[in-house]
Amino acid sequence: MGDEVRVRFAPSPTGLPHIGNIRTALFNWLFARHHGGKFIVRVEDTDQERLVPGASEAVLDALDWLDLQWDEGPRVEGPLGPYYQSQRLDVYREAAEKLMAGGFAYRCFCSEERLEQLRKEQLRSKNRQGYDRRCRSLSTAERKNLEAQGGPSVVRFAMPVDGVTALNDLIHGEVVWQNDLLDDFILLKSDGFPTYHLAVVTDDHLMKVTHVLRAEEWLPSTPRHLQIYQALQFEPPKFGHLPMILGPDRAKLSKRHGATAAEEYRDDGFLPEAMLNFMALLGWSLDDKTEVMDRGTLVQSFSLERINKSAAIFDLEKLVWMNGVYIRQLSVSELAERILPFLERELPPSLLPVDQEYLLRIVPLIRERIKLLADAAHLTSYFFEEELDYEAGALVQKGMEAREVPPALEAARDELGRAGELQHEPLEQALRAVAADAGLKPRQFFGLLRVAVTGRDVSPPLFETMEALGKERVLFRIDAAIGRFQATGRAVE
Ligand code: GLU
Repeated sequence: MGDEVRVRFAPSPTGLPHIGNIRTALFNWLFARHHGGKFIVRVEDTDQERLVPGASEAVLDALDWLDLQWDEGPRVEGPLGPYYQSQRLDVYREAAEKLMAGGFAYRCFCSEERLEQLRKEQLRSKNRQGYDRRCRSLSTAERKNLEAQGGPSVVRFAMPVDGVTALNDLIHGEVVWQNDLLDDFILLKSDGFPTYHLAVVTDDHLMKVTHVLRAEEWLPSTPRHLQIYQALQFEPPKFGHLPMILGPDRAKLSKRHGATAAEEYRDDGFLPEAMLNFMALLGWSLDDKTEVMDRGTLVQSFSLERINKSAAIFDLEKLVWMNGVYIRQLSVSELAERILPFLERELPPSLLPVDQEYLLRIVPLIRERIKLLADAAHLTSYFFEEELDYEAGALVQKGMEAREVPPALEAARDELGRAGELQHEPLEQALRAVAADAGLKPRQFFGLLRVAVTGRDVSPPLFETMEALGKERVLFRIDAAIGRFQATGRAVE
């Protein structure tokens, strides 16, 4: 493996993956691809109490959706697995043994009650929080005795009590911690599971990870990790802590800012390529101005030097805008293909299946306006409905008498009946002439027709819409409008 770049994305399956998790995955993936290295996924499922069923699968599905393929990890496996930490418990136990044998760790027998008591006292006396190291100084005899009693115990790291731990972070530069401010944290819990600290160091070493790129929230844990590396005489990887992501109000990112679980973006109809582009800009930039970059450009230009230290701002409006940009880059048939599952999900079953050829005629009409694929059903439903839902009164346009409606519709029907297949240009000319003959302003006549054929006041350009609907549907709808108007005509007048 030599000089090969090896990075990992190490999700904890404690909830659905959010934008921060996926941004971390993306940056690791980009870094690996840029350097022709390996991108590893490792599931950190050692906190049994916080496991959420289905969360691992949801993370992997999110990566699949974004086409961030991993070289080693769940589903693909690889030479250094298993890639679920819960399947590697022996490895951590061994590391803990080694640390204890070297005098870098010790068994702690303090009960939960004692620790709780200690916490309370520390709070009351405003003393420093953290374990008071009582078991660190047990004599061999005392330890043997406690072990013989067979009660629960944990393994703690014996943190040096003086000196400093220094990190040269790839993004933040030099960071130094006073060792006496770091406590004797737990390595192995009483249930035999490792803590994050022990597991992450052991695995990053065994999986030959060269660069750890992770969220800034893990920066305070890094001195602990560096201490474990040193004690085990492992060479540490390089570390880069990715900037936080905040809402536009600079508060911690949350649902309130429109940030949701990765799968919700998919279900709302964001394109994965738009998501990818948008997330790449959460903390990284090419040149402070280029916004739209495809996957290839991102891979080619990604570099740690251009990752910001300061927090990135999540702007949902920008994501929506970017989605529109990517939607308009799709060909009509690609867009139709992407839209189809959303129509199948949203339209009433009675309107399914969607006629593919018909959909290809409709898509160009909404292409300029659609922002999220999930809007497709709302934007196009009138194309599919057998019977439109509108009030007869909506047919009467401003400045028109109600009695003018039926003859106008009949004139339109007669004209269309004479025409061949509908084509928007000749159609417009012909209908303009009909409007003039009927003594109506084009705006009135076309507004009336729009309601008759779409059931709405607003639609894509009328003649293109009529062309897409096709002659048969248009005639049927005009007849239905005449019928509807006559049925309720008196009320309107
Ligand atoms: N399991 C941690 C998380 O869920 C990963 C931290 C790390 O990358 O070291 O964020």
